[in-house]
Amino acid sequence: YIISLLRKMYEAERLLSRKDWLTSLYNYRGFVELTKKFLDNTHNKPLFSLAYIDLDKFKTVNDKYGHAEGDKLLRLFAKILLRTVRSTDICARLGGDEFVVFFPTPNCEFVRGMVEKLNSRLLKTMEKKDWSVTFSIGVATFFTHPKNIDEAIQSADKLMYASKKKGRNQVHYQEVGEVEDPNILRGEPPKEVHSDCE
Ligand code: GH3
Ligand code: MG
Repeated sequence: YIISLLRKMYEAERLLSRKDWLTSLYNYRGFVELTKKFLDNTHNKPLFSLAYIDLDKFKTVNDKYGHAEGDKLLRLFAKILLRTVRSTDICARLGGDEFVVFFPTPNCEFVRGMVEKLNSRLLKTMEKKDWSVTFSIGVATFFTHPKNIDEAIQSADKLMYASKKKGRNQVHYQEVGEVEDPNILRGEPPKEVHSDCE
């Protein structure tokens, strides 16, 4: 009985150490572990898309309404994010006001639609709450294997930074590598790729 109790406690602690305390999304550690599993299983392609989101002028909410209100915004952001993407997509807070979403599909048409829907929902909520925050987003779609997930994060981060530099409140997309089968760019991708990332 004690061993089974200890095992359960260990599992609970293990999961906690992979989650962000504020939003309950995955943290960097949890994100890398889960996405690595996906990359290890996709040697036969097709691959994935990664969105990097940084909030614009988030500090103004902290300054104007206080840190607790800023926390509330981050939690609401995470809630909308989880309600919008599919349970097979992996969402994480990398730190501060920076988030990533891993879409286990190279179907960029589908991902573009999803990112637009997410951005529009988030903007509507910010307006309703009177928070003057918008979103700078970068989305990289991979048709070839990156060296590792950090390289993929860097690519999406660069695109996000391009959005920031061009004046914020926009999305930059990029495709990495050559697409072998153009059919994967259309229609809704299969849903069953991940089961343990909700
Ligand atoms: P930019 O438009 O250039 O992205 O600027 P920004 O105001 O969004 O600020 P920036 O991204 O440079 O930095 C993020 C800020 O988020 C810094 C810090 O004050 C605030 N922050 C980081 N973590 C937390 C948190 O857990 N809660 C709250 N309320 N604020 C946080
Ligand atoms: Mg920011």
